[in-house]
Amino acid sequence: MARINPPRAPSIANSPRLSRARSAQRQPHIKRQRGSSSPIYVSSAPRVSAEDARDARKRLFDALEKGDPFPGMRRRISCADGLSEVQLGRCFEMLHACGRATDLGATLEKTRQSIDGFLEAIFNEWTSESLGDPPRPELEFLVEAEVVAGRICLTPDKHPDISSCCASGICKVEVSAAASYSCSPAMLKLEFSMADPFTGWSETFCPLGRRDIRWAATDWEKNLRQTLLSKMVSQLHKFNKYLAIWQARKLVAAWGRGSVSMGSEAADMGFLGRDAAKVAIMALWNGDGE
Ligand SMILES: [Zn+2]
Repeated sequence: MARINPPRAPSIANSPRLSRARSAQRQPHIKRQRGSSSPIYVSSAPRVSAEDARDARKRLFDALEKGDPFPGMRRRISCADGLSEVQLGRCFEMLHACGRATDLGATLEKTRQSIDGFLEAIFNEWTSESLGDPPRPELEFLVEAEVVAGRICLTPDKHPDISSCCASGICKVEVSAAASYSCSPAMLKLEFSMADPFTGWSETFCPLGRRDIRWAATDWEKNLRQTLLSKMVSQLHKFNKYLAIWQARKLVAAWGRGSVSMGSEAADMGFLGRDAAKVAIMALWNGDGE
């Protein structure tokens, strides 16, 4: 899956003996052609003797027998070069799950395009030996969507609907509908406002009981809902990216301590999607599709 350039190959020599032992077992795969003239791949470390491989396996299995949660070799992982193919594959899966959570058009190709940046973000001023558990990212945002919802009618008795107002040329003050959602503090709000004709300042008002509002004949409610939803989804995507980095760092830190676990399933990593956003604003609308 991943290939490294020849100049980086020496760093592989630093990988633990166990990892070398594993790669020794995969030697036949190294010769595979993957669209490049270079035969060097991740974990294509120098061959180790059968004896070394056996010793490494013995250490691992002995540690597993004792229930050691970190049975592998302890090592410092400071960049993507320190990850094995399997570990890189895990990072790729996590990033793909992160993208799929909010992007309906997510593809392996898109994940491929961003995986290098993801790995760089993981190791940005961080290594597997950085002190302390990295704090879990918190979901915190405020989004707002606003659309034109109608007009204030100056002659309600003469204008039965908004088209009369528009044709008259006198009913020019627009009514805006603004919806906002905030996670912390939790809040879902819908406000109506209009610009004061004298000061130009926007002021909110209660539409109940007012006879002078002519509502727009457009799908303004739907537009408002879609705009709010799409802004929420883009915030969730941002949160998911931080969460993916956090999840990856937890895993890499454990690998550095000798863990051989691949962590939780991608589906259990807490990535939030469109459905979560729809549920959150269901109180405002009945959630009937988009
Ligand atoms: Zn009017």
